[in-house]
Amino acid sequence: MSLSLNLTDVTPLQFAVTPNPAPKADAEREEILANPGFGQYFTDHMVQIHWSERGDWHRAAVEPYGKISLDPAAAVLHYGQEIFEGLKAFRHADGSIWTFRPDQNGLRLQRSARRLALPELPVPLFLESLKQLVRADAAWVPGGGETSLYLRPFMFASESFLGVRAAKKVYYFVIASPAGAYFKGGVKPVSIWLSTEYQRAAHGGTGAAKTGGNYAASLLPQQEAYAQGCDQVLFLQDGNLEELGGMNVVLVKKDGTLVTPASDSILEGVTRDSLLQIAADRGHAIERRPVSLEEWRDGAASGEIVEAFACGTAAVVSPIGVLKAKDFSIEMPETTADSLVLSLRGELTDIQYGRIEDTRGWMYRLDAGAEGGAA
Ligand SMILES: *Cc1c(COP(=O)(O)O)cnc(C)c1O
Repeated sequence: MSLSLNLTDVTPLQFAVTPNPAPKADAEREEILANPGFGQYFTDHMVQIHWSERGDWHRAAVEPYGKISLDPAAAVLHYGQEIFEGLKAFRHADGSIWTFRPDQNGLRLQRSARRLALPELPVPLFLESLKQLVRADAAWVPGGGETSLYLRPFMFASESFLGVRAAKKVYYFVIASPAGAYFKGGVKPVSIWLSTEYQRAAHGGTGAAKTGGNYAASLLPQQEAYAQGCDQVLFLQDGNLEELGGMNVVLVKKDGTLVTPASDSILEGVTRDSLLQIAADRGHAIERRPVSLEEWRDGAASGEIVEAFACGTAAVVSPIGVLKAKDFSIEMPETTADSLVLSLRGELTDIQYGRIEDTRGWMYRLDAGAEGGAA
């Protein structure tokens, strides 16, 4: 695949591999894979790479999954200097294991790192860290249905120091967790609570970085959403739509135009970008611009806006059934078999699971059969 990388970045780091001496028994693993849920079970190994101001990236290792020992003064525990990524490994029908546009996640991890004053992991090293873990834990990649192995790279300030400055010691890890099909009985519309009291991010803040603090800020409004009987919460800024706590939002107009918020405080999802590219290739007009709540409200009322959906790696795409606010609600038309949201979802997952040809060079092979990762 064509990666926009600076290849002088390539670090000749060798991973020291220590196999887990007590991996989960086959029967126990199979039992977990039969019903993994999301984020509850973890594989037998993890990747760990250290960084220090003096030593650059070093000590790359694949190790048994286990506890991390940290000094109580580790900066991340006090000031939240932390970033993460999320992507999935998919097993294709021939048994091979692939991931989706990981260069985009590697580049986003670098953007997040810049905002959080963390070191930028070279993208080739990011890709290698995924391959190393998936090769050690290949048996944990489920097959069949829309199952996957969720990969969670993360990086944090490990230096013991209570002064407030960017840490000079940082740890990078990758862990992995098998994931079942998000929607078991078919794709189900979600209900969204509109948060008017809280924001998740601000102009010039950390909204465009994938960092734990944004999630911490979203938990209280999320509780409010649950109390209102809603699944998720939508954040606004200056009267414009931002996103959900962990998913981007797209509206579909009657004429087939897809409209999505553009803002410096939104996390730019790989899923959204991919769905919009698929739609653009089918001839749909795409508008990335500020989108006011008014526009959605009026458009839904007049029939100008016919679909709304949320998208992100975990659920891929969820149609939005209703947006509920303190004093009004927007009811969206029922999702039907010919809704655009379902056909975009279908095409994206067909690419990810290898059911149709990947014409855009999006898939990247992770398992041992692949050298260089090219499709
Ligand atoms: C990760 C994330 C998304 C979705 O990004 P994908 O790359 O599509 O998974 C959207 N919003 C927030 C806040 C996120 O953290």
